[in-house]
Amino acid sequence: MKVLVTGGKGFIGSAVVRHLIQHTEHEVVIVDAMTYAATEGSTQSVAESPRLRFERGDICDAGRMSEIFAAHAPDVVMHLAAESHVDRSIDGPAAFIHTNVIGTFTMLEAARAAGVERFHHISTDEVFGSLGVDDPAFHEATPYDPRSPYSASKAGSDHLVRAWGETYDLPVLITNCSNNYGPFHFPEKLIPLVTIRALHGEPLPVYGTGDNIRDWLHVEDHAAALVTVVESGIAGETYNIGGKAERTNLEVVETLCDLVDELAGPLDSGEQRRSLITFVADRPGHDHRYAIDQTKIQRELGWEPQHTFDTGLRNTVQWYLDNEWWWEPLRQRQATERVGLNK
Ligand code: NAD
Repeated sequence: MKVLVTGGKGFIGSAVVRHLIQHTEHEVVIVDAMTYAATEGSTQSVAESPRLRFERGDICDAGRMSEIFAAHAPDVVMHLAAESHVDRSIDGPAAFIHTNVIGTFTMLEAARAAGVERFHHISTDEVFGSLGVDDPAFHEATPYDPRSPYSASKAGSDHLVRAWGETYDLPVLITNCSNNYGPFHFPEKLIPLVTIRALHGEPLPVYGTGDNIRDWLHVEDHAAALVTVVESGIAGETYNIGGKAERTNLEVVETLCDLVDELAGPLDSGEQRRSLITFVADRPGHDHRYAIDQTKIQRELGWEPQHTFDTGLRNTVQWYLDNEWWWEPLRQRQATERVGLNK
C-alpha cells in the first residue's frame, strides 16, 4: 500500500512512519506543515529509505492537499496532524478549531475526491470526558463528553469522519487512544518535561494534588496498533487503544524522579529529586481520570501492548538521557518563545 501519513514529523506520526518503514513493505508519504511540534530528527533513522517521501503542506490548504493526492495517489490515509497540547488549547483555542476541525474536513474532502481505499482518523480518549475513580473504563460506545478546547476539537473531527463515512461511503476507521509516552515526545508534555527538569534539578510543577489518573501507552505500541487497524480493521468501525497502565500524575512524577536519580546520579545537593516536586494551581476543567477498555481491538485484531509501563518508562528516561541533541534545541527555542510572550 501507499500510505499518506499526516503529522508524520510529530511524536506519534513519526513513530508510525518508523514502524511502516522498519516493519512493513508499504510506501509512505509524510504530509506535515512543520509547526513547532515537528522535528526532522524524529524520522532521521528512516530518512534514507527509498519508500519514504515528504511533502510540506498545511492540511487546511485544500489546493495543496489535492496537489499532493494527485502527485502520490495514496491508497490509504492515516490522519494524525493536529494541535495536540491541552494547555495550549486553553491559552489559544482558535488554532485547535482551525487545524483539528477545518483541517480534518479538508483532508476528508481531498480523500473523497481521490477515492482512497481507507481513511484512518487518529483520535484521543479525551473525547469521552472524565471518569470517577470507580467508573468503568471508556469503551467504543461511551457517549462523547469533551471538556477542553482540545478534546472538543478532536470530538468535532471524529463526528465529521463518521458523517463522511455514512453520507459519502468513505471507508473510514477511527481509533481513540490513551496518553502516549516514549522517544521524541515534545518537551512540553508531562513525561519529557519532568524528566528534563529533574535532570537539571529544576522545580517539578504538578497540577492540583497530582491525583489525576491517566492510562499510559508506549508510542511504539500505539504505532503498531494503528498499523494493525489500517491494514486489518473493518471500515466504519472504531477501536479504542490503551496501555492497561493507569497511574496518578504524582505516581508518574515520583517514578521519574527515582529513575533520574538512579540513571543520571544524584543531585549536587545530595537530595533526592522527589524534593523538587511542587504543587501548582490546577488546570481549568482538568479531567480527573481516563481509562480505556481495549477488549475490542485485542479480540478482533489480536493487538496488545508489548511494553509494560515500568520497563517502557525506564527506557524512555534512558532515551532522554542519551538524546540531548534532540531535545535541548527545542527547550532553548521554547525558553526564547516564553520570553517573547511575556514581553
Ligand atoms: P504532535 O503535536 O507531536 O504532532 C502533530 C504533528 O502535526 C506535527 O508534526 C505538526 O507539525 C503537524 N501539524 C500540525 N498542524 C498541522 C497542519 N495544519 N497541517 C499539517 N501538519 C500539521 O502530536 P502527537 O502527540 O503526535 O499526536 C498525533 C495525533 O494523535 C493527534 O491527532 C492527537 O490528537 C492524537 N493523540 C495523541 C495522544 C498523545 O498522547 N500524544 C493520544 C491519543 C491521540
